[in-house]
Amino acid sequence: MSDPCDICAATHLDPVLEVSLIGLRRVHVHRCRGCGFRQVRPRLTVDQIKALYPSEYFDAASPVGYADYAREFQRRQREAYFLNRWLRGLGPAGRLLEVGCALGFLLHGLKRSGWQVQGVDASAFAAYYASTRYTVPVACATLEEAQFPDARFDVIIQKDLLEHVADPRAHLEETGRLLRPGGWLRLVTPNGEANLRPLLAASRAASATPPVLDQGHLSFFDRRHLGQLFEECGFRCHRMRMVGIVRGLRALGHLPGQRRFVRSATACDAETSVGEPAAVAERGTTGFDALAARIDQDIARRHRGFKNWPAYFHYHRAMKRLDSLPAWCEIGYDFECLLQRT
Ligand SMILES: [Zn+2]
Repeated sequence: MSDPCDICAATHLDPVLEVSLIGLRRVHVHRCRGCGFRQVRPRLTVDQIKALYPSEYFDAASPVGYADYAREFQRRQREAYFLNRWLRGLGPAGRLLEVGCALGFLLHGLKRSGWQVQGVDASAFAAYYASTRYTVPVACATLEEAQFPDARFDVIIQKDLLEHVADPRAHLEETGRLLRPGGWLRLVTPNGEANLRPLLAASRAASATPPVLDQGHLSFFDRRHLGQLFEECGFRCHRMRMVGIVRGLRALGHLPGQRRFVRSATACDAETSVGEPAAVAERGTTGFDALAARIDQDIARRHRGFKNWPAYFHYHRAMKRLDSLPAWCEIGYDFECLLQRT
């Protein structure tokens, strides 16, 4: 193959696993002969990636995407609370960008704490929801398309994003361009082995259809791959931890429950060509109101009670800390990284 590995630039990548991407498109995960990095090849184009996430991705009734908004809202409010506390310890509130901001829950929390927030998300529905509900500006684009000026931001947040982009190295270089020197990048991305091992196990079991890669991940990193990529893209790694240890142990097969991470392609929509971006664009904002209203209700229904108190936030964080370990053990579900632009 001529398109070199993102980590080591080797040009030989071998197919190791056929998967159905969100039940929509059959692709092959390849493994680099040089460094073992695994990635979907050939790379999807930006338009192909965008077509994987129409507004249905945000619909709780849809079989794809994520669903529990009330819980996600609470989770992101807690995250905003602690992120603001930590960042304020370093200096005054400045400009903060979240790439892949979805419905803007985190930015909403940070905006209330005085941050000048900006979001980027390729989903038109996400941009619509964040701007109408929270007056949070969201560019409906990829980071590269958004074309922000150099060194524009003091802080950039990227949660569960790097594994979705077509070219992680180019994406991190662009992220570095947008951060001021000394600025911070908080990045969360899955443990690639925890993502792939359930699918590899399922594909070994006799099955006519490939397993579904439900979340649409395209790259599968380990700690070494991430460390090299960060350094070469101009970041100093201040902290890297594994979080979600119990979930990671299940996915890796060290605890029961690995099969929960896999469903077969037969269980979802028929394999079709991915909806073309034009079809998504044509839909415009029609139907967004109904979906947005449903999400509002969902959030309002649960946005009461002790789970919204800071005391609960602290309790919850203490519990989460018990479910995290240093990155070298590589048994958790996600890598949580704190990086500084050099
Ligand atoms: Zn490689």
